[in-house]
Amino acid sequence: MNDNVDLRDQPAVKYPSERESRSPLGRLQWRALRLKCPACGAAPIFRGWFAMHDSCAACGRRFNRDAGYLLGSIYFNYAVTGTLVVIMYFAMFFGDFLTDRQRLLVLGAFASLFPTWFFRYARALWIAFDEHWDPWPNDEELRRMSK
Ligand SMILES: [Zn+2]
Repeated sequence: MNDNVDLRDQPAVKYPSERESRSPLGRLQWRALRLKCPACGAAPIFRGWFAMHDSCAACGRRFNRDAGYLLGSIYFNYAVTGTLVVIMYFAMFFGDFLTDRQRLLVLGAFASLFPTWFFRYARALWIAFDEHWDPWPNDEELRRMSK
């Protein structure tokens, strides 16, 4: 091996900067709210109410990148549910149209049912958020795929 290579003679390699390789967050969120692959927007993430495809049928992006990866969606679900419950509580409290017991029942039912309905959107938003900050495939995933 020749260690005396003059790097000035080598053609300049142009790598995209990290910022250039990121998709705009608004486009990723729009794709997530339509439950489509955040990377290409062409194929659905889910094949049922709770069942996900392993990877995108159009571009091959893996939706569950690693064990425990999808747990991050819980943060999105909790934040949205908690925010809505607080807003609804104050609206009902100051609207003064329900008793305390009725408010508790309404908000308890909402806090149980809404996260179940929002589950798919929370996962899609999490995957889109992750796609923005760590686009698929990253270096480690490229290494694993090449084996
Ligand atoms: Zn895709």
